Amino acid sequence: MAKKFVYTFGRGKAEGKAEMKELLGGKGANLAEMAKIGLPVPAGFTVTTECCVEYFKLKGKYPKELKAQVEAALAKTEKEMGMKFGDPENPLLVSCRSGARSSMPGMMETVLNVGLCSATIPGLIRKTSNERFVYDAYRRLIMMYSDVVMEKAEGIEPKDGKGIRKQLDGILEELKHEKGYKSDTDLSVTDLKEICEVFKKTVKETLGSEFPDNHMDQMWGGIGAVFKSWNGKKAISYRRIEGIPDEWGTAVNVQSMVFGNMGDTSATGVAFTRNPATGDDHFYGEWLVNAQGEDVVAGTRTPNPLNDETKNDQNKHLSSLQRAMPSTYKELYEIRCKLEKHYRDMLDIEFTIQEGKLYMLQCRVGKRTGTAALNMAMDMLGEKMIAQKDVVMRVSPAQLDELLHPIVNPAAEAKTSPFVKGLPAGPGGACGEIVFTSEAAVEAAKKGKKVILVREETNPEDVEGMRAAQGILTARGGMTSHAALVCRGWGKCCIVGAGEIEIEHGKMIVGNKAFKAGDIITMNGTKGHVYEGAIEMMEASENPRFKKFMEIVDKFRELGVRTNADTPEDAKIARDYGAEGIGLFRTEHMFYGKGSEQPLFFLRKMILSETLEERKKALNELYPFVKKDIKATLEAMKGYPVTIRLLDPPLHEFVPQGEEKQNELAKALGITREAIQKRGEGLHETNPMMGHRGVRLGVTYPEVSEMQVRAILEAAIELKKEKKIDCKPEIMVPVTCDVKELKHQRKLVDQVAAELCKKHNIKKIDYMYGTMIEIPRAAILADKMAEDAEFFSFGTNDLTQMSFGFSRDDIGGFMQDYLDQKILDVDPFQSIDQDGVGFLIKHAVQYGRKTRPKLKIGICGEQGGEPKSVAFCYKTGLNYVSCSPFRVPIARLSAAQAALKAKGKKK
Ligand code: PEP
Ligand code: MG
Repeated sequence: MAKKFVYTFGRGKAEGKAEMKELLGGKGANLAEMAKIGLPVPAGFTVTTECCVEYFKLKGKYPKELKAQVEAALAKTEKEMGMKFGDPENPLLVSCRSGARSSMPGMMETVLNVGLCSATIPGLIRKTSNERFVYDAYRRLIMMYSDVVMEKAEGIEPKDGKGIRKQLDGILEELKHEKGYKSDTDLSVTDLKEICEVFKKTVKETLGSEFPDNHMDQMWGGIGAVFKSWNGKKAISYRRIEGIPDEWGTAVNVQSMVFGNMGDTSATGVAFTRNPATGDDHFYGEWLVNAQGEDVVAGTRTPNPLNDETKNDQNKHLSSLQRAMPSTYKELYEIRCKLEKHYRDMLDIEFTIQEGKLYMLQCRVGKRTGTAALNMAMDMLGEKMIAQKDVVMRVSPAQLDELLHPIVNPAAEAKTSPFVKGLPAGPGGACGEIVFTSEAAVEAAKKGKKVILVREETNPEDVEGMRAAQGILTARGGMTSHAALVCRGWGKCCIVGAGEIEIEHGKMIVGNKAFKAGDIITMNGTKGHVYEGAIEMMEASENPRFKKFMEIVDKFRELGVRTNADTPEDAKIARDYGAEGIGLFRTEHMFYGKGSEQPLFFLRKMILSETLEERKKALNELYPFVKKDIKATLEAMKGYPVTIRLLDPPLHEFVPQGEEKQNELAKALGITREAIQKRGEGLHETNPMMGHRGVRLGVTYPEVSEMQVRAILEAAIELKKEKKIDCKPEIMVPVTCDVKELKHQRKLVDQVAAELCKKHNIKKIDYMYGTMIEIPRAAILADKMAEDAEFFSFGTNDLTQMSFGFSRDDIGGFMQDYLDQKILDVDPFQSIDQDGVGFLIKHAVQYGRKTRPKLKIGICGEQGGEPKSVAFCYKTGLNYVSCSPFRVPIARLSAAQAALKAKGKKK
């Protein structure tokens, strides 16, 4: 049987459904669902994403079965609408819209009014008795079609300002100017007719071919252009940022046109069933009378508010739909409730009113800020619309991350006033230098600068710059403009429609103030306020809803979450964020930064010692500092397990480099600078990451390990005595590759433990002994390693380095090329390489537990807080992940989601 590439939908019935997003794209699947539940959806059909994939496989040709399937679907659509495509008397017009699996706002193309040509224009005029409307629709078709199908899809890249769309816009503006018109609606029938002729001539001259005058040619051109737009520049950039696979392809929705531009009883609008920025339970949207398609989102006219309760400073003078068309608003409100009940989520909808009759053109689960995601999930739980497990799935790890991001300090903000206000489209605060172009934003961000991208309005070409900027500020556009949608999706600070801003000659003018590129401003994206200069930022404060949400999350989580912390302060932050222990305490950190002078001095003294006696003496002097440091952290963790790693870095890292520093140290130690230099040279290694580090130090200098082990165990004993804290230190040996290394160090640990028991007159000390798995050999021989190790912790920074042979400190030179050329999908130092490094991890888990079934296993590499890696660790059977304090909530959520997903699959 021929493969089914086309699915139809119409009122009350559809071949597709909401669950078929992969095949029909988000838009197509939801059109089908809305039709099924009886909402007024204009009939049409969806050409599948599979067809798009096939089209690329066939190098730009349609699969042979497509034509007949499209013709049959079109006939069905015609029947339902009571009109015929291309019919001279009663012509049906259609739209061709893209629709990928996940929404890519503004990234791909749409063509409206397809089917208008010399054969159908007179009939449509007779039928509508509205010649002006018909020619207005025709000039829009020429503008969109020539741009999307004849230029972009053909891969023509015109010089700046010479694109066909720009040229046609210019012609239109010129005519308006000549005639003294203010708005497009002032154009007369004669003007429009003339313009259509000039447009077609310009298209022929610029692009070298005639504008197609056949309805079928137009439709197939539209379908092909939508497919091709999947591989357009901006769509590719967006996919890179969002991590959407290139292989998915897009579906095309061909749908009967309904018109919001047929006069004052017609309108078009977009709405959210709840406020997407705050999560408030208010029907929230924008509409424009006598407008078509993209007019609302284009940001060229400030749209009207949907109802009175959601009016804001920018649109309070404009009439709401609730007042202008009360019965239609009521119908729309009922649809809103029906949709929320059906989907049990907040939806983003598009509607058109044609001469008083309401049509639904789109619905999809709406993008929202992190704040809104949290608030809606908790509200819907309260409304019994969703269950606790749904609450957990409703907030993505990235949205949670947003909630942990900085905001403008309210106290500092209260002391100053904004110089301009706009619509609060994206949350949080941002502070930075003004830039006016996307390129400037990208350049500045590369140099590590924080910038705010200020634009008249943004368009999809700006996506890279928007990504690079801290915040986006636009003069025009509403809450559903491109900038707003994209920023909300990313949780980026964004203010749109700040109407008092004028951008002229590379300056931002507000009243009598002029700002140039490089001037600093601060934005509060939650309020829509913009301030001159820099205002202090602060971390999002303790939010009770956030806490409640995390409590629910933990009910579903099975994987433990610990933190990597080297100071009592970090340990405290991590505890507040819910860490259940420390998975990595890097002892060497006490030799860096604040308060490190004295311990560093004794460490250096130890390194520069000539004899064992001298070294032991220096170690004795160092001992109290190490013990104090460990004790403070063990105390902060109040009995939660703390994995303390023995000294890892190569010793040369601690020998001072500059002449001045070396002289200082030489003086303090009473030795010559030459002696220091000589020792430095002696320790020099060509490849220190694979040199004398980790357990290798402990083998050469057992007294160094011994001192540390003593500090760890004695700190635990003292805390138990002094503060009744049952500490659970876990002694971890780094960079091992053979069990004999573990046996070597274990001997010394046993010895110290025995001595301390005697000294403190106790029977036993509660501690564990284990190792990091950072070298492929250790992973391969995990069954052996587990003979001596009571726990494993995967050091996936080194394990990735050693598996790929990529120096973790030098990947900057080539990683981007690997990603751009798709040799790698993701940077393996950020997200575990599940195929390679993951294979070693799985093997080590399996073999380690063969020897020691209760082997405790965790991960402490950087990937331990990254959602996909957390899910992998859960699936692989690890006991816990460990990550930096600020990623602890993200890891908790990712772990709970992984557990819920696994349960969902099992069912
Ligand atoms: C690791 O290698 O993953 C690790 C945690 O150790 P470090 O980053 O200190 O080498
Ligand atoms: Mg390491």
